[in-house]
Amino acid sequence: AVVGLITAACGDDDGGDGGQGSSEDVSEATGTVALLLPENVTPRWEGPDREGFEAGMAEHAPDVDVQVFNALNDAAEQQQQAEQAITQGAEVLVIAAVDKTAASVIVEDAEAADVPVIAYDRLIEDAPLDYYVTFDGEQVGRAQGEWLMENTADGDQLVVIHGSEDDDNAQWFAEGYMPVLQEAVDNGTRTIGYENWTPGWDPSAAQESMEAALTQLDNDVQGVLSANDGMAATIVTALEAQGLAGEVPVTGQDATEQGLQLILNGRQGMSVFKDFTQQADVAAQIAAALLADQEPSDELVPDAVDNGMQDVPSRLLEVEVIDDEESVMLAVDAGIHELDAICSGV
Ligand code: BGC
Repeated sequence: AVVGLITAACGDDDGGDGGQGSSEDVSEATGTVALLLPENVTPRWEGPDREGFEAGMAEHAPDVDVQVFNALNDAAEQQQQAEQAITQGAEVLVIAAVDKTAASVIVEDAEAADVPVIAYDRLIEDAPLDYYVTFDGEQVGRAQGEWLMENTADGDQLVVIHGSEDDDNAQWFAEGYMPVLQEAVDNGTRTIGYENWTPGWDPSAAQESMEAALTQLDNDVQGVLSANDGMAATIVTALEAQGLAGEVPVTGQDATEQGLQLILNGRQGMSVFKDFTQQADVAAQIAAALLADQEPSDELVPDAVDNGMQDVPSRLLEVEVIDDEESVMLAVDAGIHELDAICSGV
């Protein structure tokens, strides 16, 4: 600690002080951080994630430049954007990966250029990843599965619309909800009549899946596991066309404005609330520390996630279920949505 104090007092900026610098040092960070977003069909990324990250950097390290890219669901494009960011001088990358396998190349290239990588929301496996900030994906999936079990009955037939197969999270959510549903299938109380993945989490693809399911099953559907709110909205549209909206419980996640409106209108059953602003702020604090040549504190990254290559210092944030008026207020109180905006669609 004494050495840390002296180092700080002498303004030595060569790093290696083991994270003992004060937060004042972090605020003096300079340089560029690049935020690489995966798509824009889901409102969170260009909304609270981007805004929260920019606000977090402005607060914790006001002299740092923030560059933002969006790969629009194109993994090759994301790799080019990462290369471009590094060429243009980014010293830290924060990535929400489009494709869990393709992104490992980005991490390897970044490591070769001495640029640390923070995986944002979506894990990047089998790569020398530096940090990971996310919500507990299994907890998200389990909450969806358990809610669907509580809101359907013996003999009911379910439809399962998963997220994008190349997003590591889509698999993680399924590891949460599938065991819950499978147990009911095994004991004969539910059937799963239709199951499909949704490339790029594209709501229109989810709607097509739901239409196909209703046709194949002759509308005999009593519950839908939808992996997120964007897909839940178009699934509700498909149900609506058959006069079934509001009759069939549908799950979601993200607490989007539209999702909350559908919950209040009785057309979607639940969403899983994730405080994106908090997540973005944690990522900004890690980036600020790295740009100040400090090691992010154990408090910031208390967890460890094995990405197949190493234990990655991580932050796993908690989620909550939203399924009624009272719980809708969680997203309003967290500052993610304005109550007026939600009410305008109810
Ligand atoms: C995120 C979800 C989001 C989905 C689609 C997942 O990786 O965890 O919050 O709905 O991607 O973008």
